[in-house]
Amino acid sequence: MAKIYQIYGQDAHEMTLKLLAAADVIRLVPPDGSVALKPNLVIAGTPESGATTHAGVLGGCIEYFRDHGVSDISVIEGSWVGDETMRAMCRAGYDKVCQKYGVPFFDLKKDKVRPVKTAIGSIDICERALNAGLLVDLPVLKGHCQTVMTCALKNLKGCLPDREKRRFHALGLQKPIAALGAALKPRLIVVDSICGDLDFEEGGTPVQTNRMYLGTDAVQLDAYGRSLMGLNPEEVPYIELAERFGGGSTRWSPEDIIELNKPSDAASYPKPHGTVASLTRNVHENQACSACFAALVRALHATRCGQGEEIYIGQGWQGKQLEGLGIGKCCRGAAQCVMGCPPTAEAIAKVLEARRWG
Ligand code: SF4
Repeated sequence: MAKIYQIYGQDAHEMTLKLLAAADVIRLVPPDGSVALKPNLVIAGTPESGATTHAGVLGGCIEYFRDHGVSDISVIEGSWVGDETMRAMCRAGYDKVCQKYGVPFFDLKKDKVRPVKTAIGSIDICERALNAGLLVDLPVLKGHCQTVMTCALKNLKGCLPDREKRRFHALGLQKPIAALGAALKPRLIVVDSICGDLDFEEGGTPVQTNRMYLGTDAVQLDAYGRSLMGLNPEEVPYIELAERFGGGSTRWSPEDIIELNKPSDAASYPKPHGTVASLTRNVHENQACSACFAALVRALHATRCGQGEEIYIGQGWQGKQLEGLGIGKCCRGAAQCVMGCPPTAEAIAKVLEARRWG
């Protein structure tokens, strides 16, 4: 079984260097091969908010590979539908890291794509991810308002053009995420679990968990992350699906974990609060894009309205007449609709407040 290297602390740069050295990952780079670093830059949010990969992880990776003679290193990412990658890149401090090391950053929203055959049919994947000699997946272990958790497998969704990201939601997310993971099958994953938000991918409520871990099997690392978060396989089914599609193995045991140090406090891993589930109790979600759903969650959280409302959101409601409040242009058939694609959280909040007092 593949080994998982784990380290505790808060200094992302130093922890990354130590993990990469302990696992001797230079052996994974093909001769004269390139290295493409794929962080989680889903939105324009700081790593301290629990949303994005710490810039120190990038710096540590760049330093390690450069010191081992790799000259072709790049950072690749495409934020979610509705956000600009370059804005997110600056917000997370990656501009300074790329400048310091003279490493290019490529916005995958502008990349060429190639169709790749997968277990669920053809998926268009960005070429920079496909062409990398070594694709290094650098996710944050955190909660997700639709898939409960996100880590190594789901982070790969940033390697898709926006229209394919939307299609993933129309296909129900679980199978496409698994198929993409099996198609890209990154051979090196470094998980940033220093302070991920365990409820919401956009961050805002970071939980200090002070650890990072590294492995070579995205499926195994997701299965491990899921157990850290105290979740059941039924709550995050795409991990077993990815195993079925040939993406890796869900198996891990405590003997597979190589600890490079000890935690300063032995408290167990904190569990998600279930905030999103309670806020969205009245929401009828049908193939909603992440950015759309997240905007609604943010608005519900900010206003604490909408509990007596029937709220509809998602591509699956297109062309349907709906009683209640629709979110996004897909739900324009609702009695009232907050238009946009995706609408902003502020626009949704305004309508929720007005309905409360209306
Ligand atoms: S309105 Fe929302 S769910 Fe519909 S396509 Fe736009 S972002 Fe996706």
